[in-house]
Amino acid sequence: MGLEIEKLKLKIKDSVELQRQQLIQLSLNIHDNPELGFKEEKASAWLSSYLENSGFHVERGVAGLATAFRATYGHGSPRIALLGEYDALPKIGHGCGHNIIGVSAVGAAAASKSIIDQLGGSIVAMGTPGEEGYGGKIDMVNGGAFKEIDVAMIVHPDTRNMPTEEALACSTLEVEFLGRPAHAAGQPHKGINALDAMIVAFTSINALRQHIRGDARIHGIITDGGEAPNIVPAHTAAVFLVRALDDDYLAELKDKVLNCFTGASVATGARLEYRWRDRTYAPMKSNMILAGLFKQNLESLGRQVEAFDPHFGLGSTDMGNVSQVVPSIHATIAIAPREVLIHTPEFAAAAVSEAGQQGLMDAAKAMAMTVADILQPGTVDKIKREFHHS
Ligand SMILES: [Zn+2]
Ligand SMILES: [Zn+2]
Repeated sequence: MGLEIEKLKLKIKDSVELQRQQLIQLSLNIHDNPELGFKEEKASAWLSSYLENSGFHVERGVAGLATAFRATYGHGSPRIALLGEYDALPKIGHGCGHNIIGVSAVGAAAASKSIIDQLGGSIVAMGTPGEEGYGGKIDMVNGGAFKEIDVAMIVHPDTRNMPTEEALACSTLEVEFLGRPAHAAGQPHKGINALDAMIVAFTSINALRQHIRGDARIHGIITDGGEAPNIVPAHTAAVFLVRALDDDYLAELKDKVLNCFTGASVATGARLEYRWRDRTYAPMKSNMILAGLFKQNLESLGRQVEAFDPHFGLGSTDMGNVSQVVPSIHATIAIAPREVLIHTPEFAAAAVSEAGQQGLMDAAKAMAMTVADILQPGTVDKIKREFHHS
């Protein structure tokens, strides 16, 4: 690697370091004020203002989402997007550590200004709301927010450092069974039991699970199980997630899952009503050239980087939808020991711990350093070639 880029990377690290107090304060503020998906008014305002004050051109309310933003510095291509999330979870606040994602993206973007001044192109910090369950990035992709973007990166806190990870395609099914109420002891023969229909469907899905691919997942909860034990339940409802490693298998599984509900309807006489939610999370299509660059930068910060291990467990992310239209990585940064589970109060605590703060700083540095790599001659072409041929 040339001396020039080495010098540039030192400057980038200094530039992130100089923001340390402000970035950590931003992260603590977002953590102390957890806001659910699409309601992240404070976080979105704080992050976008931070960039506005650093000289970025900020557009708010992107793609019809009030809490989405796009902050641009520089002119023309290549346009490199750094994505931030900042939504929290019900009851456990920042148990997914999205305060770190949002703040590391804006820190990296601000530190990338000097790279853009020197090498040209644009840096676009993208505020992407409602990752947990809503899929805000899906709206942003559909709304054209990524149309002119050449490369996209995001770093999620985790218990491991990884240059990218796979993610499952995911569809959400809402179901209802409509039966007929009756006195459960006096006239049970007059009733149609909507809860029996739901239980039969759950049992069918349990049977189906033995015969699906190891990396697919089907899981759900009953959201309405009836009114009282002495009334034959006339209405029940459930929400199910169906996940698979690719879109074709997802389509196949969706049919099989729906058959379980249809069969239960036939068996019990309860009428089935269902709806697939229109936001489907796409699988992650990771760009390995980009991942390689990010890995080297993460290692240069003294972090041990691991290859992705699917047996550790796969989730879904709306970054998958971005990765289908723009060469992308979904990297992870370790902020807690292996035994800490994500989506727990313990992980929420880690997101503001000493290790969490170091993770935030390192994520910002590695992203900004990777921006410098991407802007070296020929690199964007190589990244795009891989994207179009995989
Ligand atoms: Zn999460
Ligand atoms: Zn998350």
